[in-house]
Amino acid sequence: MTRNEFIKICGLFGIGLPFQSVFSSCKKDDDISTPFSGKVLVIGAGAAGLSAGYFLNQQGTDFEIIEASSTYGGRMIINTSFADFPIPLGAEWLETGASIFQEIVNDSSVQVDIQTIPDNPDRKFINYSWFNFFEDYIVPAIANTITFNTVVQSIDYSNNQIVVNTNNGQFTADKVVVSTPLQILKDGVISFTPSLPQSKLNAINETVVWEGFKAFFEFNTNFYGDSEYVFPITPKSRGQKIYYNAAFGQNTIKNILGLFVVGAPAQDFISRSGNDLKNFILSELDSIYARQATPNYLQHITQNWNNEPFIRGGYLSDYEDWRKVRELGNSVADKLYFAGGEFTDGEDWVSVHTAAQSAKRVIVEINN
Ligand SMILES: Cc1cc2nc3c(=O)[nH]c(=O)nc-3n(C[C@H](O)[C@H](O)[C@H](O)COP(=O)(O)OP(=O)(O)OC[C@H]3O[C@@H](n4cnc5c(N)ncnc54)[C@H](O)[C@@H]3O)c2cc1C
Repeated sequence: MTRNEFIKICGLFGIGLPFQSVFSSCKKDDDISTPFSGKVLVIGAGAAGLSAGYFLNQQGTDFEIIEASSTYGGRMIINTSFADFPIPLGAEWLETGASIFQEIVNDSSVQVDIQTIPDNPDRKFINYSWFNFFEDYIVPAIANTITFNTVVQSIDYSNNQIVVNTNNGQFTADKVVVSTPLQILKDGVISFTPSLPQSKLNAINETVVWEGFKAFFEFNTNFYGDSEYVFPITPKSRGQKIYYNAAFGQNTIKNILGLFVVGAPAQDFISRSGNDLKNFILSELDSIYARQATPNYLQHITQNWNNEPFIRGGYLSDYEDWRKVRELGNSVADKLYFAGGEFTDGEDWVSVHTAAQSAKRVIVEINN
């Protein structure tokens, strides 16, 4: 069963997706397990790494987060200068119900009030973003635990004390949570001693990470309407490509068209840059919208996720076999834990909320 098939079946039978039950069974005040008393090192400060740190902080476990880049957020980052609302260069839509915010905050004394546009199946934030949510509700509690510009190069888990080497010195811990993008492991950026089990290596090597690209174009006028222009991709497992009204539902008078493209169709965009890329997109839009793009063009920004040195791709294909995805999320030797958009329990993956859910899952596992 692929991710898409699983989600469809949950919808047909009115079943909530599993992450909801994971959160609801692990509220802050629940006495479900004894918090781990050793030291945990979290690698990566994207949605999963930040959530892992946040939950560890809530339960009083000693931890540190190591982040390769100079900022937190990973694939949630936004641009705040292009328009008068945040432009989500990666994660844009809320792919589940709005109750997830309260579930991630995991503290009923904190009221979370975030406006989204109800839609089916995904929702858009209103002048807000996933990044803003983490910045407002999650990061303040853990900001001083993140060490930036620190690239993990090796993890030696052959002894009780795990030794992590980086470009910025050595760290030690009792447990390590790896929350880097899958492509980082595929590329062998981090070496493991002893080597990861063969089943884990197979899952890392045999799964497909789609290319990822987004662009935002501002125009004088909205000639494209509110309907998405979805390109037919055959077979669907090759990826997705959609032009859409990125300003839909925002408090703005700006006309901003978005392009979201993952998988093989992204090659057309990640292989281009500068004016070549801009003209390629304008000419494609001119052919779809009766030559209205070029004369109305004002400005644009692009985000090539394959070019980001610590991300190196879009995300795990929606059409992976759930068994391989589950293997990606499995822990190793009660020492290494894997959390993130790609490292889930195999029932749903590659969204921000499943990254947060996977962080909760590994913290519960570490405690037990
Ligand atoms: C184009 C695009 C559109 C998307 N749209 C949506 C959407 O609409 N809705 C949605 O819910 N999700 C969406 N997603 C998916 C979502 O962004 C991801 O699933 C989620 O953000 C992943 O979080 P993560 O913490 O697993 O990984 P990341 O956010 O990638 O974080 C990993 C972190 O690890 C760091 N790192 C990497 N290597 C090392 C190293 N060696 N040492 C230390 N740190 C390292 C990186 O710098 C990064 O900060 C989209 C993704 C893309 C690319």
